[in-house]
Parts: sequence; C-alpha cells; structure tokens
Amino acid sequence: EPEKVAYKRVMLKISGEALMGDQGYGLHPPTVERIAREVQSVQEMGVEICMVIGGGNIFRGLQGSAQGMERTTADYMGMLATVMNALAMQAALEGLGIHTRVISAITMNEVAEPYIRRRAVRHLEKKRICIFAAGTGNPYFTTDTAATLRASEMACEAIFKGTKVDGVYDKDPNKFDDAKRYETITYDEVLVQHLGVMDASAIALARENSLPIIVFSLDEPGGFRAILDGTGTSTTVRA
Ligand code: UDP
Repeated sequence: EPEKVAYKRVMLKISGEALMGDQGYGLHPPTVERIAREVQSVQEMGVEICMVIGGGNIFRGLQGSAQGMERTTADYMGMLATVMNALAMQAALEGLGIHTRVISAITMNEVAEPYIRRRAVRHLEKKRICIFAAGTGNPYFTTDTAATLRASEMACEAIFKGTKVDGVYDKDPNKFDDAKRYETITYDEVLVQHLGVMDASAIALARENSLPIIVFSLDEPGGFRAILDGTGTSTTVRA
C-alpha cells in the first residue's frame, strides 16, 4: 500500500556543484544519474516535481566580475551554465524513462521551452518533471531566488534544498562535535544569524509567500525520499 505523502507538488533546488561529484569543476555523469534516481524515487510516490539547478560548477557571475568582466555579462554566462546543467539532468531523467521538460527563462527555442506559467503547470499535472533553467532570466539574482520564484508560481508546497548537510546547525557540524541541528528555524532567524541556507532575497521571498524551505542532505542515498516519507532528518525554515 503506498505511503501517505504530505506533499503533492514540490520544488527541488540543488546547486550546480552537486553535479560535479569529486571533480573540482563541471559535470560528473554518474553523479547526475545518481541524483536523477533520487528524483525518480520521489516521483514514484506520486509527487509532482519541479527542479532548479544552479550553475556554480561551471560559471558564477560574481567570479567573472571579480576578474574584470562586466557583472551583467558574467551573470548571463552563469544563467547559461544552468541551462547546461538542466540539459544534463533532463538526459539522465529521460534515461530512466521519466518525461521531463527544460523550461528556460531566457528563450532559446531550439534547446528548451520558453517559460509560460500555465504550460508549465500543465506539464506538472501530467506528471512531467519541470526543470526551470536560466535562473530568473535577470542578472543580480541567484538560482535560490529563481527556485523560490518558480515554486511560488507553480504553487509548490515546499522548497527542498538539497545540500551536503542534513539540515541547519548552530555551528559547523564538520568542525564541532556539539553542533546542534535545528528541527525548525524561522526565516528571520536565518536572516539575522546569516545562516546561509539560501541568499537573503530568496529567504525574504519565501517568507513573503509562506513557502517552507526544507534543508536536507543530498549525499545520503535515498535522502530525498526519506524526507518526503518522514523518516529522514532535515531542518524546516518557516515563519
Ligand atoms: N544567475 C543570474 N540570475 C539568476 C540566476 C542565476 O544572474 O536569476 C547567474 C549568477 O551569475 C549566478 C550563476 O547564474 O552566479 C549561477 O547560479 P548560482 O550561483 O545560483 O548557482 P549555484 O550556486 O546554485 O550552483
């Protein structure tokens, strides 16, 4: 008998770096495939899934501008990096037989669908996984903000932020044995304490829209599904 799932539609946000495996750069296909399987196991629960993938494994606007490039140009390059990651994830998901659409905030019709909200909602209703690429389409934003924006537009019930740690701690759990994981924490606490869950504009947008952010470890095999069926550990950021 299928387990009761508390969520109907969710947003999964992962950084570009999650796709690079142990390499220092770029895409590591076995890692992409592993994450695709994590997503598959949640889809099998009947949950509708949106994804936003960062681009930091390929290019970050801030890095480019620190090296003298115009910030806006560098940011567009960063957004294009997220499209590459989205295509890699789409290929991995389709390799598992899962119908997937890449929906880009920057039109490039030969490569991805343009973002049309109603169309994206329809894909989700048909149980296709929607990977939202090219961030918000605007420089000076991040993919955390893009994930929060799209999650709001798609009426997701929560943003699942897959990271290397299984939640938010009062201090670095890799350095301190007595670090404590919060079960829940408020948006305001995250902002005031600079806890680095997501950037401040993303946190503020999530707060405005009462979107819980669930921080969990993507390194844990079966971790994503475990959070959804209530057996995993995580931290929920909420009001
Ligand atoms: N970016 C942007 N606008 C957006 C989203 C992303 O300009 O709405 C650019 C920005 O330069 C950023 C890069 O794309 O550094 C990659 O995204 P991000 O840093 O969020 O990736 P992550 O850290 O999650 O891998």
